[in-house]
Amino acid sequence: MYRPVTLLLLAGFLLAACTPGEASNASALTEPVPGTAAASSGSQPVAGPLVGSGEGASELALLDRMVPPGSFRQLAWSAGISFEGTSTDTPVLVAHGSGAGPVLCLTAAVHGDELNGIEIVRRVLHEIEPGSLSGTVVGLPIVNLHGFRRGSRYLPDRRDLNRFFPGNANGSAASRIAWSLFDNVIRHCDALVDIHTGSLNRTNLPQLRADLSNAEVRDLSEGFGDIVLLHSPGPDGSLRRAATDAGIPAVTLEAGEPMRVDAAKVNEGVAGVFRLLDALGMLPGDSPLPAGEPVYYRSSWIRADHGGILLTVTQLGQRVEIGDVLGIVTDPVSSEQNIIYATISGKVVGMALNQVVMPGFAAFNIAVETDMADVSRVAAGRATEAGPGLQSSWDDGLSDGEE
Ligand SMILES: [Zn+2]
Repeated sequence: MYRPVTLLLLAGFLLAACTPGEASNASALTEPVPGTAAASSGSQPVAGPLVGSGEGASELALLDRMVPPGSFRQLAWSAGISFEGTSTDTPVLVAHGSGAGPVLCLTAAVHGDELNGIEIVRRVLHEIEPGSLSGTVVGLPIVNLHGFRRGSRYLPDRRDLNRFFPGNANGSAASRIAWSLFDNVIRHCDALVDIHTGSLNRTNLPQLRADLSNAEVRDLSEGFGDIVLLHSPGPDGSLRRAATDAGIPAVTLEAGEPMRVDAAKVNEGVAGVFRLLDALGMLPGDSPLPAGEPVYYRSSWIRADHGGILLTVTQLGQRVEIGDVLGIVTDPVSSEQNIIYATISGKVVGMALNQVVMPGFAAFNIAVETDMADVSRVAAGRATEAGPGLQSSWDDGLSDGEE
């Protein structure tokens, strides 16, 4: 599939014209996605002239190891930070293709309780056939192993790792871990997909968050094909923002809720990543995956104004109009009920699960369809034509632990 992304991302690569080493495919092929590398017959790589030239890949140097072309390896990254007297090795899965191409990195569980991304990374890495891959896919299924083991979003010192990138070698524990990951792995990536879920007791429709004012990031986003695409530069200190700032185009893929593995959302995420691999010219075959176009959205949170027990009425992905009932908050003592109405019309792309809420709780994330021209105006800080009142009620929910 020819897209601008292919050329843009491949443009910076130095292609070594050496002979590919002996292929050793150690990947376990499970549940191949129809139309992906694992399911298709191996044929000539498609896409841009750089990849399509049939150039072979050279050995990949990563984390003090050499990975031969056409092979799958499990490497280890350690931040060298000890909380329990021993430092912990974090698995890094590498599918290094026989053909030259970009290094696409996938990170998951930067927040240790976000499980869907772990499964997405596992599926992608084990479904890829390195022998017919052009480029490299590096997957870190569980970046925050400390948090994962405790079922926690945070590091043991209660810090949010995704606010400390690119980190500092001499900073706090969180800052040192961030620095180690950024320096040892992320700087070796040509593009990054950081996979998240909604924060505690909230769930997200599969969607991309991306700084669409950056042309390379926009092209990367469009490689996912048909997906909800929200413009945001990303929180300060987030992995995707730091990577983008370092010249590595990055997006956040959101899917589902923490502490749960949701098969349908995992499937959507895996399919989106394979469409991206196809768009980047990394997959074999001359029949491109059906992709469709992403749809641009701007979103704003609607908050509960009363405390009590929230029962949601709307559904994730539902289209709502101004005045529709989204949920009901009931005071458990007085039995007083307060209804949360939609104050903008749009698509429900994120929402709270049923729970006890305080006044001010970010309950429903409503996205309004827009176009790239409007996104560009918003990104540039200029006035927008999309939806009267939208600007004044703009609420990205970042202080509520988003992303
Ligand atoms: Zn997260």
